[in-house]
Amino acid sequence: FKKVLIVGGVAGGASAAARVRRLDERAEIIMFEKSPHVSISNCSLPYHLSGIVENSERLVLMNPEIFKNRYNIEARVNQEVVQINREKKTIIVKDLVAAKMYEESYDHLVLSPGATPIRPNVEGINSPNVFTVRNVVDIENINSYIKQNGIHDIAVIGGGFIGVEVAENLKLAGYNVTLVEFANQVMTTFDYDMAQILHKEMIDHGVNLILEDGLAKLSDGYVLTNSGKKIDAQAVVLATGVKPETRLAEAAGLEIGETGAIKVDHNYVTSDSNIYAVGDAIEVYHRLLRKPTRLALAGPAQKQARVAADHMYGIPSRNMGVIGSSSIHLFELNAASTGLNVKQAKQAGIMHDSVYLMPGDKVGLMPNSNPMHFKLIYEYPTGRILGAQAIGKGNVDKRIDVVATIITMNGTLEDLKDLELTYSPMLGTAKDVVNHAALVGLNLLQGKYKEVKVSQVRDLIESNAFIIDAREQAEYEAGHFKNAINIPLSEFRQRIDEIPKDQPVYIHCRSGQRSYNMVMALQGLGYENIYNISGSYLGVNLYE
Ligand code: FAD
Repeated sequence: FKKVLIVGGVAGGASAAARVRRLDERAEIIMFEKSPHVSISNCSLPYHLSGIVENSERLVLMNPEIFKNRYNIEARVNQEVVQINREKKTIIVKDLVAAKMYEESYDHLVLSPGATPIRPNVEGINSPNVFTVRNVVDIENINSYIKQNGIHDIAVIGGGFIGVEVAENLKLAGYNVTLVEFANQVMTTFDYDMAQILHKEMIDHGVNLILEDGLAKLSDGYVLTNSGKKIDAQAVVLATGVKPETRLAEAAGLEIGETGAIKVDHNYVTSDSNIYAVGDAIEVYHRLLRKPTRLALAGPAQKQARVAADHMYGIPSRNMGVIGSSSIHLFELNAASTGLNVKQAKQAGIMHDSVYLMPGDKVGLMPNSNPMHFKLIYEYPTGRILGAQAIGKGNVDKRIDVVATIITMNGTLEDLKDLELTYSPMLGTAKDVVNHAALVGLNLLQGKYKEVKVSQVRDLIESNAFIIDAREQAEYEAGHFKNAINIPLSEFRQRIDEIPKDQPVYIHCRSGQRSYNMVMALQGLGYENIYNISGSYLGVNLYE
């Protein structure tokens, strides 16, 4: 029978162990975990800070006894694997409680050691009030420190998923929270225009958001930023990214890839045929960018673990590569994205265009109907779907999952337009936003009408372009773009003489629907230089 050793007992490690057991009742399976817990819900860790997960013990999904009793898997906690002897096919383990070393042999070794938080090299970084978030002990330490020391002000450094979730949960717990982010936006899976919605949500809920600034120094009671801002903070949470945990693999001479993570083949076999690696520690193939990338997400880690276990038992698998799909809940909003954003498509030199819509997330008559911000990115001129982003109070993740499915099936705007999706007034709209976005994309691709992006509107306003506001007069009077002329959709046929034929005309309304109809009507009347303003009034206001 096989002896399978596994380094790391969480997403990838525990999944590999469970799959091996399902495939082979007689295998000896030992999982080594250096922390005191296996099988934790990393993704739920921030929710302990707000009390949404009140008891931190609930973050531990399974303990070693359950692994033993239910699956006959030995889960050894507080055991750090410190060395791999590839010739002997053994590992050296340090028992962190008994402080002794021992050796264990393997037929197959699976590495799923995850990633380590990056700690910026600045003054004060090793102070006892500076924390990172990776496991249950980390989150318990933060929680007890801020409670026991009567902390009021906390700085979170880094605006990726972990930083944003930590900031949200600390704010919900009543702390004064400042989030400092080096880039000009949080959560770079979203484009800048979409990230503005997330910025607004954080600011509206009282998070002090500082962008385009970095951590310069930590001192007693405050942190200093690169630009010289002094922020009150008696505790600091670092969330400045993670680096793949490659130390064991590197020391054993396993090949490291161009991204700095462990290199594996399509079955997650490392450069040693007896050693597999999965999860945050490896590099994976990005099927849209057609190159290796790193993707620190739980779903891919679990899938990779299954493939690795299957491969040990000769079961063929299909490695589709990754596209990167993720979601987050932020105060009252849900946000999700998949595939490439515009910035990534540009950087990769992929010809592309995008559509930005803001329909209701359900029928407007229904309670809790809210606008959904939706952006679809597709390849030009093929119409192949490259990515999407959605933010709103409703089921944005459903829409993004539909687009992720279409991308995985190499679908195009035509395919997305034709998808037959569910509809009920409380849950959505008869023409779902993904169908709608595909139709708009097809119109653009086929040259049926033209539009300008939200980001170009400021220049249009400054250059005194001819902008029509197609909303009703009362809406216009409540606020409008400088120099925009109010010609409501309901009146334009009577006021057609006011619309010039010899210069470009840019039209917007509230969300883009009325302006689109006016664009099509004017084109039908022979106007050639008519543009819809993508995102319309709502989108431009957010962007500004
Ligand atoms: P991990 O799950 O981190 O497991 C690695 C384990 O290996 C660790 O417990 C570590 O202690 C152990 N280990 C390392 N080296 C050794 C050694 N030498 N010996 C013994 N043990 C060792 N992903 C999502 O998809 N959605 C989310 O919402 C989400 N939210 C997250 C929130 C937080 C706060 C964090 C930290 C992560 C989140 N993630 C999320 C990411 C997700 O948790 C990881 O991508 C996933 O857990 C990776 O699995 P892994 O097995 O590679 O690493």
